[in-house]
Amino acid sequence: MKLTIHHLYADMMNLYGDRGNVIAIKKRAEWRGIAVEVVDVGLGESISPTSSADLFLFGGGQDREQTLLVEDLSGMKGADLRAVVEDGGVVLGVCGGYQLMGHYYETPEGQKLPGIGVFDMYTRPRRGDEARLIGNVLARVRAPEEDGVVHEVAGFENHGGRTELGDDAEPFADVIVGYGNNGRDGTEGARRLNAYGTYLHGSLLPKNPWLTDQLVLGALRRVDDRAELEPLDDSAERDAFASVANRLRKG
Ligand code: GLN
Repeated sequence: MKLTIHHLYADMMNLYGDRGNVIAIKKRAEWRGIAVEVVDVGLGESISPTSSADLFLFGGGQDREQTLLVEDLSGMKGADLRAVVEDGGVVLGVCGGYQLMGHYYETPEGQKLPGIGVFDMYTRPRRGDEARLIGNVLARVRAPEEDGVVHEVAGFENHGGRTELGDDAEPFADVIVGYGNNGRDGTEGARRLNAYGTYLHGSLLPKNPWLTDQLVLGALRRVDDRAELEPLDDSAERDAFASVANRLRKG
């Protein structure tokens, strides 16, 4: 089995070490003997799903980078990415990438950057009296996962935008500590089919190994629905998660 990681705008959308998500996915697949190829999908390059397992990553970025790529995204690439999601493909969007997976991201200058409409949500700029939403986050995911467990995720957020979920959007998680989508409604991120959106940088995946495996398994099962992942020794990853989570719980 081979896994292809399609890294969207790798050199532009890589805020706060989101490239660590690529490394976490690559290593946890390779540790199970799965060959991995990483394909950077930059400006002007099309999304090309393969006959093997595909996984798409869209990292975080400042308003400037989001503005620079939005024309490229609103063409065939956005339509192709939306088709991947509608077909059950695995996509992870983080912060700026997540924002552009909604209907639009409005910059502080009032420019509405069109999103690809995967999630029923939009993001507005912070008002003059509102601060950026910055800090560590602990959140509990909504849905029990494949393993029947309701997991928690920990990460770091830094965004000015406030994301408002529409009626057809399902939050990814509920905030325990931190701000999440907008610092008001207690939701964090969004989720639909096998597409995940989150504000959590950190990077997110290294200290949330269950989520990394869930993304990999989701991609593998699109090729072989009997695919399984053998357990790994996650003691280091769990310690990393616990160190952040326990510190946050203590406030
Ligand atoms: N530019 C967006 C905002 O400030 C996203 C930032 C990010 O990706 N961390 O809300």
